[in-house]
Amino acid sequence: TPSAQIRNFCIIAHIDHGKSTLADRMLQITGAVSERDMRAQYLDRMDIERERGITIKSQAVRMPWELGGETFALNMIDTPGHVDFTYEVSRSLAACEGAILLVDAAQGIEAQTLANLYLALENDLHIIPVLNKIDLPAADPEKYAKELASLIGGKPEDVLRVSGKTGVGVQELLDRLVQEIPAPRGDSDAPARAMIFDSVYDAYRGVVTYVRMIDGSLSPRERIQMMSTGANHELLEIGVSSPEPIPSKGLGVGEVGYLITGVKDVRLSKVGDTVTTARKPATDALPGYTDPKPMVFSGLYPIDGSDYAELREALDKLKLSDASLVYEPETSVALGFGFRCGFLGLLHLEIITERLAREFDLDLITTAPSVIYEVLTSDTGETVTVTNPSEYPDGRIGSVSEPMVKAAILLPKDYVGTVMELCQSRRGTLLGMEYFSEERVELRYNIPLGEIVFDFFDQLKSKTQGYASLDYEPSGQQEADLVKVDILLQGEKVDAFSSIVHRDKAYSYGTMMAERLRKLIPRQQFEVPIQAAIGARIIARETIRAIRKDVLAKCYGGDITRKRKLLEKQKEGKKRMKMVGRVEVPQEAFIAALSGD
Ligand code: GDP
Ligand code: MG
Repeated sequence: TPSAQIRNFCIIAHIDHGKSTLADRMLQITGAVSERDMRAQYLDRMDIERERGITIKSQAVRMPWELGGETFALNMIDTPGHVDFTYEVSRSLAACEGAILLVDAAQGIEAQTLANLYLALENDLHIIPVLNKIDLPAADPEKYAKELASLIGGKPEDVLRVSGKTGVGVQELLDRLVQEIPAPRGDSDAPARAMIFDSVYDAYRGVVTYVRMIDGSLSPRERIQMMSTGANHELLEIGVSSPEPIPSKGLGVGEVGYLITGVKDVRLSKVGDTVTTARKPATDALPGYTDPKPMVFSGLYPIDGSDYAELREALDKLKLSDASLVYEPETSVALGFGFRCGFLGLLHLEIITERLAREFDLDLITTAPSVIYEVLTSDTGETVTVTNPSEYPDGRIGSVSEPMVKAAILLPKDYVGTVMELCQSRRGTLLGMEYFSEERVELRYNIPLGEIVFDFFDQLKSKTQGYASLDYEPSGQQEADLVKVDILLQGEKVDAFSSIVHRDKAYSYGTMMAERLRKLIPRQQFEVPIQAAIGARIIARETIRAIRKDVLAKCYGGDITRKRKLLEKQKEGKKRMKMVGRVEVPQEAFIAALSGD
C-alpha cells in the first residue's frame, strides 16, 4: 500500500471505557472479521486478558476502509491500558500518527485517560476525541464533551459520540480517521528502519515481532539485523495481521506488520529496538530504546519443594514471551529453594503468578513485594542495591533511599479530604491540586512506591466508593528514615519475614507479625519466644507456651497399633515441618503468616 493511503492510529482510554468493544465493532464494520468469526474482545488473546477484561499485550490489526472512491489501510495498534505497561504504551504510540481519545460518556476523564493523552501529545499524535457508551441511560455527553474540549482545546461539537456496543457513530469515526490523521512520511530509498513495538512468543511460530516501517522496505528471505545487539537473522515470513496473519511480499514506508525469523527468545527482538537489513544497514537507530526496569520484587517458592525444577522451567518459558520478567535463584530458611523475581508492577506480578498456577499447575507462595532500596554503607561508602530485605547490610547503614513515584489521582471533590489523609498516612507530599470540572479534582503527590505497592489502590477505591482513579510514574530515589525489622523465633531470624519499613511503622509491623505467628505456630516441648527486632533492639515480643505431655501419653498403656499409627502420622507431618533452630514450624504457618489477613 502506498503511504498516502495508510493511516496508523491507536485508541487510548482508561480501563473499562470500552476500547476492546470499539475495536470489535471496527473489525466488524470494516469487514476485517466476518460475522461468522466474530467473537467478543477479538484482539485480547490471552485467557487472562479475556477473563479480567484487560489488555496485556498490544496487538496490531489492519482494516480496509473506503472513502471517496479510494481504499485506505487503517492500522489499529492496540495498547495496554495499565500503568505497569507504560513502556509498551509509549512504544505503540510512537508507531502511530494519530490517536482516538476514548472516554466513557457516563464517567468522564480518568487518571489513565490523562496519562496516555500526555504520552500521545509528547509523540505529536493527532488526537480525535470520542465519547463512548452514549447508549447508556446514565451517559451525559453534553457535560463530558465540554470537559474533553477544555482539556485538549477545540469545540464540544467536534467531540464525536459513539457506542461501541450498538455501533452508532462508528462509521463516522472511521471516516474521520482517514480525513484527519496525517499519512505516514518516510524515505522509501533510504536504508530500512523499522521500529519494534511488540514482540510475542507463539508456541508454533516462535517469536512474532510487530514492526512499523519508518524508512525503506523489508522483504521475505532477506537478512535482517537488530540495531541494539547486531543480532542477524533470516526473515522467514513477513506479513500483516488482518487480524489473522497474512504473509505479504514485503513492507514499505508507513506500513505495520509482523516479522518471523524462527527465533525462540523474545529477548532477541526487543520492544523499542530498530530493525534494519544486513545488506544495507542504517547508521542511526530510531530514538527511544531503553530496557524496561523491574520496580517490584518478590520471592516465589514452590509449596512442594520437589516442584523447584518445574518452577525454573516455567519461568524460563514465560521469559521467552515476556522480556521484562527477571529472576534468579534464592534460598530461604523458612521456605527452601525458590526464585527472586522482578516485575514491572503489582499487576505484572499478579499476572505472572496466575500464569504459573494456571498454565504450569504450580502451587506457589509469594513473599511480600519489595521495592529497590539503595543503601549507602557507613564503612566502605559504597552503594548497595537491596531488593530482598535479607540482603540488607545490617550494622553498616549510612543512609537509605527508596524509589518515589509521581502519582496523579482523579476523584470527585467530596472525597478530597479522605484521600489527602490516606496519602499523608502513606508519607505522600502534595505537589498540586487542580479542578477538571466543577466536581472533579486531580491531586498530584510525590509518594514512596513502597507505600503504594501494598494495598494503596484497594484503600483508595474503598474510601471513594470506587470513584477515584490512579496513575503514577517513577520520580527517582529519595532518602528516608527506613529500618529493617527482623522476626526471630527463639532467637533465630526467620528470613522470609524481614521487612524494610519506615521507622514510624516498625513497631506496628513487628507486633502484627509476632501476634500472627503466635497464633499459627503450634506449641512445642519448650517455651518459644517470638520477637521483632531492629538490629539488636527488641521492639515486640510474644511467647508460645510449652506443652507438658508428649503425644504418646494419650494412649498410655493402650493398644499398640494405635500407638504405631500415631507415630507414623507424626513422621508424615514432620516432612512438612521446617526447623528454625530447635523450633518445628509447619510450612502452612509460614504461608498463612505471609498471606496475612
Ligand atoms: P476496555 O477495558 O477499554 O477494553 O473496555 P471493554 O471494551 O472491555 O468494555 C468494558 C465494559 O464496558 C464491558 O462490560 C463492555 O461490555 C462495556 N461497554 C463497552 N462499550 C460499551 C458501549 O458502547 N455501551 C455500553 N452500554 N457498554 C459498553
Ligand atoms: Mg480491553
